[in-house]
Amino acid sequence: MAFRIPFDRVNWQTSAFLIGTVALTVTAVPLYLWYFGLDWFQAALFVAFVTLTGFSITLGYHRLFSHLAFKAKLPLKLFVLLFGSAAFENSVLMWASEHRRHHKHVDHDDDPYDISKGFFHAHIGWLLFKLQPPPPFDNVPDLKKDRFVMWQHRYVHLIAFSISFVLPSLLGAIWNGWRGALGGFLIAGVAKVVVVQHCTFFINSACHTIGKRPYSTKCSARDSFLMALFTFGEGYHNFHHEFQHDYRNGAKPWQWDPTKWLIWTFSKVGLTNGLRRVACETIRSAELSVARQ
Ligand SMILES: [Zn+2]
Ligand SMILES: [Zn+2]
Repeated sequence: MAFRIPFDRVNWQTSAFLIGTVALTVTAVPLYLWYFGLDWFQAALFVAFVTLTGFSITLGYHRLFSHLAFKAKLPLKLFVLLFGSAAFENSVLMWASEHRRHHKHVDHDDDPYDISKGFFHAHIGWLLFKLQPPPPFDNVPDLKKDRFVMWQHRYVHLIAFSISFVLPSLLGAIWNGWRGALGGFLIAGVAKVVVVQHCTFFINSACHTIGKRPYSTKCSARDSFLMALFTFGEGYHNFHHEFQHDYRNGAKPWQWDPTKWLIWTFSKVGLTNGLRRVACETIRSAELSVARQ
């Protein structure tokens, strides 16, 4: 059967943004670098924005708000609400609602990014095409009571635009006038959105495809060091699906999970507390039961 695009179900606004930012990143960004070169300020700005936005998604949107794996003090909470918006992955309320449904119905129809519908669907297809009605937000009553989460939900597009595009353009302008502003917009702005988004999308696609299943074979989620490198430590996704309230995704001390290290470090300076950990014996017995299969 020939591949057919369901045009009647295309989410035009989201698709235009997702495709437009990729198009700019592969055309305007190289052109800018060709004409003006890359100075250290633009490179540093890009790394800083990718890091701050990426951690706001993994530490904030995912482990703090979706899984309540620890508690955070207000300054940290506000920071991840602001910089998480900059990834253009919608509000915490929407993200957490969809993510909790993903965990509850993983690999089944009600999973928004169900890998059984294919790699492309789990990666980005579920956003390009409206295959499901918007979530009723019936699984986030705790977040609905949080006035800061609701404030972010109300103004998420304005916050996203300001932090993600206006701020790096302004910083670029201070550094080097209009050239700096253009570079800031294209590199720390647009290219950063593309990098952070696709790293997040890999968790839903590649982390349900590549790697081992040491803790459970009940679902498609997999553990992969390679994916952890690209996802701030979220690549240990088999562990995460089995023990979703643990603040760690790579539970072993040597596993590459910078988000876990950051949460732990913040706990030492009082910015986070109540870090939830699954008992070692429980983890060990999960591993043993898989090994016996
Ligand atoms: Zn998953
Ligand atoms: Zn999760």
